[in-house]
Amino acid sequence: MSEFICNHCSNYINTEEKICPYCQSKFIFSGENKNITDEFIPNCLVHRYDGSDLLEKGRILKEGKVNNKIALKLKDFNHPITVSKHKIYDLNPEILASIEALRQERKEVMEHYDFLIGEYWHQLDPFTH
Ligand SMILES: [Zn+2]
Repeated sequence: MSEFICNHCSNYINTEEKICPYCQSKFIFSGENKNITDEFIPNCLVHRYDGSDLLEKGRILKEGKVNNKIALKLKDFNHPITVSKHKIYDLNPEILASIEALRQERKEVMEHYDFLIGEYWHQLDPFTH
């Protein structure tokens, strides 16, 4: 165990300490009274880059009027990113899986075309006249 969130103060911890350096709570790592979160559980999809169709799983930490504070991994809990609300979607695992599969397919097709074009480029002779 080396990476988790203290449930009491919501800070990200990555030491072997038994006591929270932020709020001094004693960590309980398992069982009914477990008071840490060591699994990142997303609750939304985030579109961060204009012109890209990449969607990332995120967890909303704080809602604002225009922007939300979001973590994309446990480590972000102390330094969440700010994302406009209109770029945040409900977590829909089926649609995400379909988009990811198509993105992967597109990548493979593009790589294949790049390879084929490269083959022709290799056949070009330098200008000699
Ligand atoms: Zn704490």
